[in-house]
Amino acid sequence: MDHAGRRDRAAARSRAAGVAALLLSPGSDLTYLSGYRIFSSERLTCLVLSNDGAATLVVPELESPRAGAAAPDLVQATWTETADPYALVASRVTEAGPIAVSDQMWASFALGLQRALPGREFRVASEITRELRMRKDPAELAALRAVSAAADRAYTRALDLEFAGRTERQVGADLAALLRDEGHDEVMFTIVGAGEDGASPHHQTGHRVIKDGDTVVLDFGGTRAGYGSDITRTVQVGGHPSDEAARVHDVVRRAQEAGYAAAHAGATAGSVDAAARAVITEAGYGDFFIHRLGHGIGLDGHEHPYLVNGNEQVLETGMAFSLEPGVYLPGRFGVRIEDIAIIGADGRCEGLNQVDRALATVR
Ligand code: ZN
Ligand code: ZN
Ligand code: ZN
Repeated sequence: MDHAGRRDRAAARSRAAGVAALLLSPGSDLTYLSGYRIFSSERLTCLVLSNDGAATLVVPELESPRAGAAAPDLVQATWTETADPYALVASRVTEAGPIAVSDQMWASFALGLQRALPGREFRVASEITRELRMRKDPAELAALRAVSAAADRAYTRALDLEFAGRTERQVGADLAALLRDEGHDEVMFTIVGAGEDGASPHHQTGHRVIKDGDTVVLDFGGTRAGYGSDITRTVQVGGHPSDEAARVHDVVRRAQEAGYAAAHAGATAGSVDAAARAVITEAGYGDFFIHRLGHGIGLDGHEHPYLVNGNEQVLETGMAFSLEPGVYLPGRFGVRIEDIAIIGADGRCEGLNQVDRALATVR
């Protein structure tokens, strides 16, 4: 990954926007521009990227070796336990103009930086970084491809798991183990929504015992080399779905196909949502598709572009996003099918998840 090149492009964007500096605390923008990934803690870590291209990683002394190993090309300014990290950051802000801070910077840090840089306007860094991060470079696309393939393999193996008589949580733990076994570094979520629980799109996997005859939503993912997977398939325990479950599954599958067909370079993100939604609405289930069609994915599990009604963002080669239509019938069951897809060099949409989307039978 060419972090120095990314910093140059971000600095140029800051210059064009009149922003003096990006101040990035731990999170995906910091990782994107430096390669350094670390948890947030009470000690301030902050990449100062001035609009003249100068970059300094302000880092607590005890984390200096870790930062140096992850980002050996970055100039560091370390602070000791009793020093004032805010003054250190402010001393590296050499240009005039507004400051752009990480969207998810802790309020305690943002307020400390505002005190150390009085009179400056503060903005969110995504105004600068979003346009860069939305367009994945070849190394990022390769990472997304690899992690999606790993998720596909995990799903294929999940079809051999025992479902009936076990709890959602037990199946979720098995899914997590399969993701790790197939090459994920971290498991971020395992949603197992059996029967009526599947009607809650972000169901908290729990102690419900899965029964023969249940329709079960499986939505799981994690990261490999920092990049995320996110796949959903719906399965039928014991086979023999109800007529309505089979019908709804077919509608959702056709909705996803319509999303694939509508997603190409030059289309707006909102138009892809509309194309998929039209299939579900025409089938009479429009009121039960209660979320946007998809979200971007990369270093964050959810990022721009969002495939949502009204989003005029134009899709381009290198963008990556989910296509995940669903129908949720309260008190009964849910169906969702989700792939990660990219806009390829030819301008067409390509699914990175290729594993069978049919309503599979599990035990
Ligand atoms: Zn979701
Ligand atoms: Zn998902
Ligand atoms: Zn998703």
